[in-house]
Amino acid sequence: MLKDRTAVITGGVRGIGKAIARTFCENGANVILCYRSNDEEAEKTAAELSALGTAVKVIKGDVADPETAKKVAAEAKAEFGRVDILVNNAGITNDKLMMRMTPADFTKVIDANLNGAFYMMKEISALMVKQRSGAIINMASVSGLKGNPAQVNYSASKAGIVGMTLSAAKELGRRGIRVNAIAPGFVETDMTSVLTEEQKKSAAQNITLGRMGQPEDIANAALFLASDMSSYITGQVIGVDGGIIM
Ligand code: NAD
Repeated sequence: MLKDRTAVITGGVRGIGKAIARTFCENGANVILCYRSNDEEAEKTAAELSALGTAVKVIKGDVADPETAKKVAAEAKAEFGRVDILVNNAGITNDKLMMRMTPADFTKVIDANLNGAFYMMKEISALMVKQRSGAIINMASVSGLKGNPAQVNYSASKAGIVGMTLSAAKELGRRGIRVNAIAPGFVETDMTSVLTEEQKKSAAQNITLGRMGQPEDIANAALFLASDMSSYITGQVIGVDGGIIM
């Protein structure tokens, strides 16, 4: 479905990002994975995915720094000549009740989750505009749609992702670029491994399908939104949450 296309996936060396990268590679895409710090994890993922037969490149950089997006766009252009798909997946949590949340706790999450996605969209969409084609997928969250205690920073960043997705879709639609968001529910990754068994059990009670999501559940939606299967879909937020919001 993605033969010979090039995809940039931020935070692509583990968790949901890695599952998306694997699914894209299995469907013929070359991938550029942006990661923040863990060289060993990045090399391991690159080796694992390269075995699937397409090109895999890893680039170290913090998405909260606007220079990272410039570097990724330049390297993608130099190596592959184009970028067909951007997945803004990198994200962090820093959960605290508001009374304990410092301005720095708030800003750090906004910088990584929201500003980082903006910097990447700005640089990569400039390449896509020249190509007159592209698909951008931004990772939102149920937390940005319905809120969660101890997550005012995180839900603000993810609600921001939704608004940014809608505006970018309107700006870029006439240039052949589609912009959509995925709003995952609770997915089993390192991000949610910090929850206690009790918290996981209580979260599962609100899930209509009665189980936590797997990274592959999100990757399948990303494949759909990245491919021509969704060529008439833009400006949408697709919930992949087992029915938490319905
Ligand atoms: P994860 O912590 O396993 O992986 C996140 C990845 O993003 C890591 O590789 C990390 O290094 C990278 N990253 C974080 N900040 C970065 C930065 N500043 N620069 C570069 N890379 C950075 O998390 P995950 O569960 O795989 O989450 C992926 C995305 O899905 C995130 O945006 C998250 O908010 C969203 N999401 C996750 C869940 C869930 O339940 N796991 C639910 C809703 C939304």
